[in-house]
Amino acid sequence: MQTSTRSLALLVVCGGVFVGMPRLLAEAGSSPKPEAAVARLAEGNHRFVAGTPSHPDQNAERRRETAEGQHPFAVVLTCADSRLSPEIIFDQGLGDLFVVRNAGNLADDHVLGSIEYAVEHLHAPLVVVLGHTKCGAVAAAVAGGEAPGHIRSIVEDLADAVSMAKKKPGDPVDHAVRINAKLTAAAIGASAPILAEAVKAGHVQVVAARYDITTGTVEFLQ
Ligand SMILES: [Zn+2]
Repeated sequence: MQTSTRSLALLVVCGGVFVGMPRLLAEAGSSPKPEAAVARLAEGNHRFVAGTPSHPDQNAERRRETAEGQHPFAVVLTCADSRLSPEIIFDQGLGDLFVVRNAGNLADDHVLGSIEYAVEHLHAPLVVVLGHTKCGAVAAAVAGGEAPGHIRSIVEDLADAVSMAKKKPGDPVDHAVRINAKLTAAAIGASAPILAEAVKAGHVQVVAARYDITTGTVEFLQ
């Protein structure tokens, strides 16, 4: 009861989505497959890296179309770092990506709730957890020491990735970026009941990726 009340509240808060639900449900079968969503992101990133972006879905017609409802084909959980913007690096536009961000691309309850909304109500078939090179949050966690204020909670949540990274030879920050993205993706995919069930049913795939802020390349991690 409590969950359905919260869901209804969220639909109302997100304005217009509730009245659009019949259309969303009718179109649920037309959501792209997770693999097709990955391919669309990879193609957009190739255009961005090559310096030949097509800037799709960024005109007035798309604005009018998306005002009627949203059908994002991917959720992107990424860092708040100003040097990466999902719509730019994947060469996408309005209504294409459901973006959730925080320093260190971590999955707390607010993040999980946001992703659940995108998967359950908007039928997004793909969740990408996107870490990036030279991440300040991860670097601070690797450096250790006392983090001030609320930054401490970010550093604490990165601790597992950092400790695993320090056992590997090479750059501990880059290892931690990769491990953190994978751990966060695993946590999202195992999040009961909504996301775990959606993954089990094959409705959504959760993948980890790493953005190189120097080259612009997104690498999907195995
Ligand atoms: Zn970062």
